[in-house]
Amino acid sequence: MKMIFLGPPGAGKGTMASKVKAAMGIPHISTGELFRDNVSRQTELGLQVKSIMDRGDLVPDDLTVAMVKERLERPDAEKGYILDGFPRTIPQAEALAKIVELDCVVNFSCSDEELIRRLTGRRQCPKCGRIYHIAFMPPKAEGVCDDDGATLSIRADDTLEAVQNRLEVYEAATKPLISWYTNNGLIKTVDASAAPDAVFDFVKDALEI
Ligand SMILES: [Zn+2]
Repeated sequence: MKMIFLGPPGAGKGTMASKVKAAMGIPHISTGELFRDNVSRQTELGLQVKSIMDRGDLVPDDLTVAMVKERLERPDAEKGYILDGFPRTIPQAEALAKIVELDCVVNFSCSDEELIRRLTGRRQCPKCGRIYHIAFMPPKAEGVCDDDGATLSIRADDTLEAVQNRLEVYEAATKPLISWYTNNGLIKTVDASAAPDAVFDFVKDALEI
């Protein structure tokens, strides 16, 4: 099954991708990882991407599409795959449609309130780097690391303001894609606000696996 996972930060898309990958034996292809892999193998595309990213510029669509195309042509992707982080734009979606025929697009839908609860609860130990979550994985004593007693801090991207901004950016970028895939009849919306086991059941229902 060839599919795309769409979902805002905090919707648990990555966790679901690894569960579906294990259940169906198909690769999980994220563009972030694909960039890093091409850069580390020093492929021709990787070298181009690296010089663009080193300048602080955005990787243009044609390079991203070329990298995705090359990845989808490998033998392990023959039975299907989960694309994550791609497409991000309508031109990318159009380019993808020319390369492959998708089976479905899973849209992980979650209220902003729940996403904010998940994303702003993260705390990190500045000394050892251990990550906690005030609701899901709290330290034994509030605000301090279990391992070394250091005072936990909140990363700049996890503040309320930064999270709201990330969600707005996501929403603006993804709305057109959701309409595009809805018009193509490919969208299956899953309620991602539930606990992970329940969300996985919804995904299995949506994919009929
Ligand atoms: Zn620590």
